[in-house]
Amino acid sequence: MAGPSSSQDRAGAILSIDLQALVENWRLLKSRCAARDTGAVIKADGYGIGAVQAAIALKAAGCATFYVAHLDEGIAVRAAIGPGPRVVVMHGPNRGTEADFAAHKLIPVLNTPQQIAGWRKYAEAADLLSESLVHVDTGMNRLGLTATEFADHMAGDGFYGLHPLALMSHLACSEMNHPLNENQRRRFADMLVMFRAKFPDAKASFTNSSGIFLPPAYHYDFARPGVALYGVNPTPDKPNPMLPVVRLSAKIIQVRRVDQASSVGYGATVLAPDGAKLATVSIGYADGLPRSWGAGGRGFIDGIKAPVMGRVSMDLVIFDVSAVPDSSLFPGALMEIIGTHTTVDDAATAAGTIGYEILTSLGGRYHRHYLPAKA
Ligand SMILES: *Cc1c(COP(=O)(O)O)cnc(C)c1O
Repeated sequence: MAGPSSSQDRAGAILSIDLQALVENWRLLKSRCAARDTGAVIKADGYGIGAVQAAIALKAAGCATFYVAHLDEGIAVRAAIGPGPRVVVMHGPNRGTEADFAAHKLIPVLNTPQQIAGWRKYAEAADLLSESLVHVDTGMNRLGLTATEFADHMAGDGFYGLHPLALMSHLACSEMNHPLNENQRRRFADMLVMFRAKFPDAKASFTNSSGIFLPPAYHYDFARPGVALYGVNPTPDKPNPMLPVVRLSAKIIQVRRVDQASSVGYGATVLAPDGAKLATVSIGYADGLPRSWGAGGRGFIDGIKAPVMGRVSMDLVIFDVSAVPDSSLFPGALMEIIGTHTTVDDAATAAGTIGYEILTSLGGRYHRHYLPAKA
C-alpha cells in the first residue's frame, strides 16, 4: 500500500525559493554599494518568500542589519537569528510597546514627534542607552519628521537623551531618472550636517534597492535594499542584474478539447474556437495571483507559451494549450507561472502592477520548497 501523500503531492501549486540566489543578490548589491553596511529589508514576510528563512540565509552570508516594518516581524526575526545582527523596526513603536523593543533588542525608527517623545520618556525611565534611527522626510510626505519638525527638534532639546545610530530618509523615485532624487539627497545632506553638529557619531541611512544603482553619493552608511534581493529589477530601464529567486508552477487538473466554439470561464468573456485545447490549472486569486493578471497572463509548459483564457477564478485558471503536444498535457503536469520564461516583473506587467505586489501576495496554499544556500 502507498504511504501517506506528501505536501508536494497534495498542493495545487509549487513555489520554489532559491536561497542561494538570494544570497548572491545580496552580495551583488553589497559589491555595488559604497555603504559600510549593506543590510536587507525583510518586511512583509521577506517580500513573501519567508522572512525567517531569508534572514537565516543572509546572516550566514554576513548580513549584519535587517529591516522589518512591524514590531511582531522584528520579534520573530530576532528569535530566529539570535542576538548578533541589528534588527530595525521601521514603523517605530506604537504607544505602549517601547519595552518590547528593549526586551527583544530591536532598534526603533522614530518617525514622528510622538514616537520620539514616547521613546525618550521610556528610555529615560528605564535608564536605557538604547539606539534608534531618526527618520526625516525629504520629499515623500509619507513617514518621518517634516523639515519644520526637524528644525524645531534641533533648536530645542527635542532629541535630548536619544542615542541615534543614524539619521534616515527614503527615496520616492529611485528607480527613475527623476529630479526629486537629487532634491531629496540635497535636503538629506543639509539635515545630516545639522544632526551631526549635535550627534557627531550619527550615521546616515538613505538608499533602497534602486538607489544603489544611483551614484555613490546616495549610498551613505546603512543601505536598505529590499525588492532587488528577491529578483525584481531595480533598474527597470536596463537589463535585470539580479538572479531570479522565486519559481511558481501550478498543476493541471483537467485537459479538454473544445467540441464546438464556446465561451470560457466566468462572465463568458472569451470564445474558444472549435478544436481548441484547454487546460484547467490549480491556482487562482485566492493564491495571490491577481484577477487582473488574466488579461495579459501566460503560462509555459516545456517552454511553449499558453495564454490565459478568460478570467482568473478564485482557485483555477484556464489556459489555451493548443500549441502544446498532448504528451506534455496530463493531470499533475506543471504549468510555469513564474520561472525561466516569465519573470516576476513580467507577471507584474501582465497584471498592471509591480513586482513588489506579486511577491508580497504569494499565497499560503503553495507547497513551498526552499533550495538552500551553499554553506
Ligand atoms: C520598503 C522599504 C525599503 C526597501 O525598498 P526596496 O525598494 O524594496 O529596496 C527601504 N526603506 C524603507 C523605509 C522602506 O519602506
